[in-house]
Amino acid sequence: MTAPFDPAAVIAEFIDAVAPYNPQPDAPPVALLGVRTALGDETFAMSDHVIRAMCRALASYRDPEDRGECVGCGGRHLDENLHCMDCGRLHGILGQVIADHARRVAASGDGNAPSGPA
Ligand SMILES: [Zn+2]
Repeated sequence: MTAPFDPAAVIAEFIDAVAPYNPQPDAPPVALLGVRTALGDETFAMSDHVIRAMCRALASYRDPEDRGECVGCGGRHLDENLHCMDCGRLHGILGQVIADHARRVAASGDGNAPSGPA
């Protein structure tokens, strides 16, 4: 991506990237997309091919921040340690170990970790 970040340039770059593969380059656009930014207004003619390419891009998109869904609250904001920023639950192996330990401590009723295999 080029800097400074220009949303209209991103749209133009996407259209240019998929244009060579348009099986019907002379087909009329199916939509006009207006983009208003601090840099000004731009309008893009969106072909059926571009829209379909956007659909495929969306279907294969995976956000780099996507670490799954919290089993506790269903939130989508797990940090790099798989710690839910919404409800505080820990996930992954460490989260499972801590949750199991907390359950054993609660079951023992005395606040001390029970002895025996994990
Ligand atoms: Zn959560």
